[in-house]
Amino acid sequence: MPNQMSVSNYLKPRTLDEAVSLLAGSDAQILSGGTDFYPALGEKLPQGTIVDVSALRELRGISISADHIRIGGLTTWTEVIRAPLPRCFDALKAAAREVGSVQIQNRGTVAGNLCNASPAADGVPPLLVLDAVVELISAAGRRQMPLAEFIVGNRKTLRRPDEVLSGILVPRTAEDASSVFLKLGARRYLVISISMVAALIRRDDVQSNHAGRIAEACVAVGSCSASARRLGDLEKSLVGLPCAPGIGEAVTKAHLSPLSPIDDVRATAQYRRDASLVLVRRALEACVGQR
Ligand SMILES: Cc1cc2nc3c(=O)[nH]c(=O)nc-3n(C[C@H](O)[C@H](O)[C@H](O)COP(=O)(O)OP(=O)(O)OC[C@H]3O[C@@H](n4cnc5c(N)ncnc54)[C@H](O)[C@@H]3O)c2cc1C
Repeated sequence: MPNQMSVSNYLKPRTLDEAVSLLAGSDAQILSGGTDFYPALGEKLPQGTIVDVSALRELRGISISADHIRIGGLTTWTEVIRAPLPRCFDALKAAAREVGSVQIQNRGTVAGNLCNASPAADGVPPLLVLDAVVELISAAGRRQMPLAEFIVGNRKTLRRPDEVLSGILVPRTAEDASSVFLKLGARRYLVISISMVAALIRRDDVQSNHAGRIAEACVAVGSCSASARRLGDLEKSLVGLPCAPGIGEAVTKAHLSPLSPIDDVRATAQYRRDASLVLVRRALEACVGQR
């Protein structure tokens, strides 16, 4: 095909240093699991320089330190599902099981999901409720920022072209919290969501058998705005309420006002609003139902 160039330059560095020096000052694209990268090409062949980061051992694995749990930049969804993680990660694990199929989960990375920044990225709401921070590395140095600031719109992030997302850091402040992820699509499997919700609830008396009260609540909704959003007013209004069945009744339509759903082939904006209200209520009920 005369108008289709083949890849001019496919590079597969073995170290992070090598990768960031290849990216410095270039317009190279990063390739990881390829599960968003290749479908986005459609019928076209890849063009320009591609830096395949999949051999960078420094980015592999999940590790635990005193302050945070670190999800390396090459961690796949399958690795998240299999890792022994505190219960506050249950929502992220549930989301991981919803990403495409097992084959996609084996190849696709959490970092790729965040960098691709689809409004329907399943990884975003559960990481937002965990107050996750992303770490970016370039030849110029290392910087961190909250995930809530990193994704700025539909497929838009604050990542500079020369930066690799090297890890995702989750502070170890709510490990005993219960967390839930619910996704609604037009069918049960292999589906892009119409709405999805992650909720996390920390009780004030985790050690006792009493239900107690809500010490902290975090709720995020995806697929209903350009990027997934936390529902701050709802979160504040839940603190201090009994951690007991019926909590869903505390959620009103007004609490969903940060959302700005659109009409598209999957659902109308109104359906998305209605469905999100139901999902948020169900997610909170499921959280308080967990002991
Ligand atoms: C059949 C199918 C079903 C799918 N189902 C779902 C689903 O249900 N839910 C869902 O959320 N997603 C789904 N996806 C999308 C995709 O699988 C995920 O978003 C996956 O996590 C992407 O990771 P990746 O490693 O494959 O990223 P890649 O495709 O390699 O890269 C995606 C983007 O991120 C950039 N990038 C990747 N890694 C880095 C890094 N470390 N640093 C900087 N930039 C980077 C790339 O340059 C590219 O722009 C599906 C995809 C397919 C093909």
